[in-house]
Amino acid sequence: MRLKSLEIKGFKSFADKTVINLDNQITGIVGPNGCGKSNIVDAIRWVIGEHKIKTLRSDNLEDLIFNGSKTRNGSGLAEVSLTFENTKNLLPTEFNIVTISRKFYKNGESEYRLNDVTCRLKDITNLFMDTGVTSDSYSIIELGMVDDIIKDKENSRRRMLEQAAGISIYKTRKKEAKQKLDATEQDLNRIEDLLFEISNNLRTLESQAKKAEKYHSIKNEYKDVSVEFVKASLEDFNTTYQTLNTQQQHEVDAILALETVISTEGADLEAQKLALTKREEELHLLQKTFNEVVGKLRTLENEKVFLPKKFSTSMS
Ligand code: ATP
Repeated sequence: MRLKSLEIKGFKSFADKTVINLDNQITGIVGPNGCGKSNIVDAIRWVIGEHKIKTLRSDNLEDLIFNGSKTRNGSGLAEVSLTFENTKNLLPTEFNIVTISRKFYKNGESEYRLNDVTCRLKDITNLFMDTGVTSDSYSIIELGMVDDIIKDKENSRRRMLEQAAGISIYKTRKKEAKQKLDATEQDLNRIEDLLFEISNNLRTLESQAKKAEKYHSIKNEYKDVSVEFVKASLEDFNTTYQTLNTQQQHEVDAILALETVISTEGADLEAQKLALTKREEELHLLQKTFNEVVGKLRTLENEKVFLPKKFSTSMS
């Protein structure tokens, strides 16, 4: 696998599109101080995913975009592409030529592309895994790293030798495996916690299920008893209803009999009233006659007073 070319546009001092072809076994880039030689290395490291901005000799991501000069305005976008030859199929892809690009816009948006298709940084990292083309490998060395190697900062010499000997891959894999193991252990712990919680919940659920069962059996019993009670009440009600019905019939009969008696007695009373009226009229006549006789008697008695004594004595 070989880096074939490098295309830079709007990155640091490269305002215009610049293509660097690396066709020979060894390519040297020479130029005066400050012309941008190290910026090329920065560009390469940036595309392969360098995220430590200090390593790219900048303070923030915006510093990576061409910020203008006396004669021209700054750029709105930094864009770098690396093209690799993959004839030996070291990269796990069917393409013989693989181009990876990274873009960063002034508004903060960024984008990775793999053979001109949008992708994630992880896709690029996965593709270049085990090839030595990573941001922390020693296949692409920037100036500061040379200093680090000389001073053996943070065991950098050992790391470089391990990479050269192919050990670092296994170290990385071991580290990843360890991380996976830790994560799995954490998952196991979490599962144990969950199992504990579930078994607690299970006990509660079992007790609730028993209560629910008991509740249903009591409810069914209550239903049966209620039905029986309603049946018995209905029978009682029926009997009472029939008794009351018979009683009512008797009472109606009694009322009818009483009404007959009342009407007979009424007729009698009417007849007696007529008879009484008739007697009163007779009595009135007798009274009248009696009064007339009394009147006549008084008249006679008066006449007797005025008669001569001798006549009166003989008369008496
Ligand atoms: P030396 O030989 O001294 O190491 P060099 O050729 O490696 O130098 P670099 O360090 O690659 O040079 O480039 C530094 C130049 O890049 C400086 O002139 C700096 O102004 C310019 N530069 C850095 N960032 C930007 C930017 N965002 N926009 C424009 N120019 C930039």
